[in-house]
Amino acid sequence: MPTVDQKKCIGCGACASVCEEVFEMKNGKSHVKKGQEKSKIPCIKEAIESCPVDAIKA
Ligand code: SF4
Repeated sequence: MPTVDQKKCIGCGACASVCEEVFEMKNGKSHVKKGQEKSKIPCIKEAIESCPVDAIKA
């Protein structure tokens, strides 16, 4: 289940650009979209790898 650590996120937007189905930018931080809290789609892994501060867990 994807989560974004709001304290770590620096708002670079990388996760939302590789996995827009799950992540969206709000107020300068990434958030898991409503209804996607249990998503297991493959781009989540790409988002985790693309995050420069290791803020995404799944
Ligand atoms: S890739 Fe990481 S730092 Fe960048 S917006 Fe997403 S969660 Fe935040």
